[in-house]
Amino acid sequence: MSTATVPTVASASTGRSSFSIRPHDPSPNPVCPKCGVKRTIKKGKRRNRMRTLQVYECAECLYRFTAGDAGKNKTYPLKTILEAVSVFNLGHSMTETQQQLRRRFHVDIPERTISSWLAEQKELATYCRLRAAARKLHSPESMLRAVRLEHQQVYQFQVHQGKLELLLGQSHSGDWHAPHPTSRALPR
Ligand SMILES: [Zn+2]
Repeated sequence: MSTATVPTVASASTGRSSFSIRPHDPSPNPVCPKCGVKRTIKKGKRRNRMRTLQVYECAECLYRFTAGDAGKNKTYPLKTILEAVSVFNLGHSMTETQQQLRRRFHVDIPERTISSWLAEQKELATYCRLRAAARKLHSPESMLRAVRLEHQQVYQFQVHQGKLELLLGQSHSGDWHAPHPTSRALPR
């Protein structure tokens, strides 16, 4: 009696023999996402929900950041992502958004990346549905009207003119109407 079939299914998926822990990563430290300087130093580790991330500190501006594998949005800090969504939703074009981020964070972010952030934040940043309509009413520069109120404590009062006008003009039906006449009193 010959045994033709031998169960070898398990051995196929256990290719872990080559696994080894290297004492240090030979790849160079990542560039500082804030000021773009290449001189960054390792500064301990931080535990994420998913994994342990290496923390780096910029030798120039002392900005601390983590770098995992260059996967989902881990290349850029959250601050940059939120700024991109905010700037774009103020009514700036994609190119203008890129320019502003370059000026502020000294990074060139591809259009594709910003588009993916916008898509990801769609559920949370629901204003994106009003962006086009509000853009017709105000330029990005005049979208937010800010007034510094010099009370005992200085208070920065801000109103989003696009949202306000769309809200006031909305009362007649579900569709977006021209802004209510009273809101026109606000300077553009
Ligand atoms: Zn830096």
